[in-house]
Amino acid sequence: MRLNLSAIIEIPGGSVPFDCELETDGLDFPSVRAYRAKPHAAGRVFNEDGILHLEGTLTADMICVCDRCGEEFDSVKEMPLDATIVEENPEDDPNLFVLEGNEIDLSEILATCFILDMETKFLCREDCRGLCPKCGKNLNLGPCGCRKSLDPRFAVLEQLLDK
Ligand SMILES: [Zn+2]
Ligand SMILES: [Zn+2]
Repeated sequence: MRLNLSAIIEIPGGSVPFDCELETDGLDFPSVRAYRAKPHAAGRVFNEDGILHLEGTLTADMICVCDRCGEEFDSVKEMPLDATIVEENPEDDPNLFVLEGNEIDLSEILATCFILDMETKFLCREDCRGLCPKCGKNLNLGPCGCRKSLDPRFAVLEQLLDK
């Protein structure tokens, strides 16, 4: 989706609202199994003293896979949008987006913001216990039958005693 900003480019104080959905093509992450709906973004582009800013909120309702235990879990990501639109971006600053004529490529800007803000770690919960390295049981469901791993100092001691 393209957004025409000709009404505000020369008008400090002016703003143009937007409300759109993102196509999920290209929004592939190894730990995101599916999107329950297309990510949704709403906000506005406004001219503040001659500088164009984009602000708003992007919401994505996703089915993710836990990096630790491999179980699927629901995750709703709600991220603030904050970008600046410029006429030129000679340094290729990833936080700046270039005006194309009187328009911006809103879909591309939103997708870029989303990708840059994506978590690097996906956990079903903060204290996910993961899988037992020996038997593979999901330890969130309860302890497995394997022997408790000992304090590493005792493990060394135990090795010595075994000899
Ligand atoms: Zn987990
Ligand atoms: Zn086990």
